[in-house]
Amino acid sequence: MENDDLGLSHDSTTEPSPIQAFLKHLYTQYQPLQAGKVASYIPELAKVDPDLFSICIVTVDGKVFEVGDADQLFTLQSISKAFMYGMALEDHGRSYVSTKVGVEPTGDPFNSIIRLDESSKRPDNPMINAGAIATTSLIKGADPTERLNRMLEMFRRYIGHEAFVDMSVFMSERTTGHRNRAMAHLMRNFGMIDDRLDESLDLYFQQCSLLVNCRDLAVMAATLANRGINPITDEQAIHPDYVRDILSVMYTCGMYNYAGQWAYQIGLPAKSGVCGGIIAVVPNQIGIGVFSPRLDSHGNSVRGVKICEELSRQFNLHLLDLAMGRCKFAETQSPLS
Ligand code: GLU
Repeated sequence: MENDDLGLSHDSTTEPSPIQAFLKHLYTQYQPLQAGKVASYIPELAKVDPDLFSICIVTVDGKVFEVGDADQLFTLQSISKAFMYGMALEDHGRSYVSTKVGVEPTGDPFNSIIRLDESSKRPDNPMINAGAIATTSLIKGADPTERLNRMLEMFRRYIGHEAFVDMSVFMSERTTGHRNRAMAHLMRNFGMIDDRLDESLDLYFQQCSLLVNCRDLAVMAATLANRGINPITDEQAIHPDYVRDILSVMYTCGMYNYAGQWAYQIGLPAKSGVCGGIIAVVPNQIGIGVFSPRLDSHGNSVRGVKICEELSRQFNLHLLDLAMGRCKFAETQSPLS
């Protein structure tokens, strides 16, 4: 279908917006898709309404396009890992962080414990749980409150408003997260993380329990697309030197053990979480956020993957299309500007 045939209007203009129209079209097309299951291994997550669905795009010049339940709050889960990695890099610099967590994709599930052994000096990458816990253990602060407040402040810069932790999800993760706890103890035993093990695990569960909506996801992604500057507030959320590091691990490791197929087909730095959220970043162009809680066998949102596939195909968003000057997003957007 040609975008121009859709003829809907963006709320801020009477000009037809092909992007808004295309989002509406995707929403209508994929709303009936009910494949997949919501995550239930964290009891509080199992309570989500599986039919929730929203798509949002934020451009680097601050335009917002959204459809569906864009105000619905949910917890960030693994999407937080990309941003905490950036914070650890800011706290310690690239060379120190690389001694504590690698950048190697594993092809294993997110909660895999199998590669953690004494011969491995560090967890493989910051996007699997072990690597994320090691990353979180690096966050500076004199005590748990200071570390939590620094983490909340970092997320505030990315989302552009105050950040809160969902206490029910946090407690649910904290009391049932035996596997994560086991990984942390193993890493402590191997000397990969320091003595603040329980404190760091709490911080990890808190980052996963951070409340966001789909618009927040797209703004966070657009901030990474915009060299670390939030395009809505103009605030620098992260030092621009580290944006490429974050995007690199998102590109190679961000979509669980579907990351290779994703890089090949969709070609964007992205991160998903068991909440059903996905962020995808088109550098210098847009941030994409999708929320739909039913997950496939890898742990990725079923509708979310489809939507990103469609957007990538429609606008030639694959990074290599971008590098070859084939991206069509700016040109399609032109009726708006
Ligand atoms: N809090 C979740 C866990 O640690 C995050 C998992 C995810 O979103 O991949 O299991």
